[in-house]
Amino acid sequence: MFTFTDLPELRARVRAWKIEGLRVGFVPTMGNLHAGHMALIDLAREHADRVVASVFVNPTQFGPNEDFSRYPRTLDADAAGLAAHDCDALFAPTVATMYPYGTGNEVKVQVPDITTILDGAHRPGHFDGVATVVARLFNMVQPDVAVFGQKDYQQLQVISRLVRDLAFPIEIVAAPTVRADDGLALSSRNQYLSPAEREVAPTIHATLLSMREGVRGGRTLAAVEAAATARLVAAGFAVDYATIRRADLGAPADHTRTGLVALIAARLGNTRLIDNLLLD
Ligand code: AMP
Repeated sequence: MFTFTDLPELRARVRAWKIEGLRVGFVPTMGNLHAGHMALIDLAREHADRVVASVFVNPTQFGPNEDFSRYPRTLDADAAGLAAHDCDALFAPTVATMYPYGTGNEVKVQVPDITTILDGAHRPGHFDGVATVVARLFNMVQPDVAVFGQKDYQQLQVISRLVRDLAFPIEIVAAPTVRADDGLALSSRNQYLSPAEREVAPTIHATLLSMREGVRGGRTLAAVEAAATARLVAAGFAVDYATIRRADLGAPADHTRTGLVALIAARLGNTRLIDNLLLD
């Protein structure tokens, strides 16, 4: 596996692959890789001849009181895991490579509408940071296809809109969420949980399943949302939202029963967890 920290070497390698007629896949990450990330690498391999992964903890997508400084950084282990998964290249840039004018003085990419609801409302500026770094990474790597996890459902919608509106010639592929046996979606942030919190955390997935049953059983969406919030609060969560939306994240009419997604963001202690479930 090639490892690049600088842009010219990355570009030369990708250019050489493209001259050979090879299709290049890309998986952007913040590192601390787990089986969910590796499933994205495997899926990228199905859609491309060569796979590039990036590891970059992007400062511009963290709020001032969020976990940027304590976010787990495990580059050596990540590189070993990627190599074992037949990843062809790892791009691990510095902040200076990603933001040559520094952060706070960077050109920003702002996707409208869907970035100010749900996680965007609870994490102001988060999706501006995501769109800004992904646009940069797309220009740097110049992949033919990029894979994103459905676990970050709203992020996937933001990226899809970014790619269409700015006409990036990149196919976006969504990967299903990888879960622990007890249903908890794998996440680098799960390791912040105490043993007691880790016991409680699968309640999020259980609640999503009960939301699906509620919708299938004909209850009003408002009643399903209220029951979900109550269940999470009873388990000890501080709930940011437990909601049912259309697949495009618009508000559904209450009689809607198809094309829906249930989304939860809830905090256990200092750890904020998100998850979602397509209801069809
Ligand atoms: P992150 O490193 O958390 O920014 O995530 C990098 C990519 O991995 C994103 O596209 C995420 O949606 C995806 N991802 C994270 N956790 C999972 C998971 N449990 N299952 C599938 N994809 C995931």
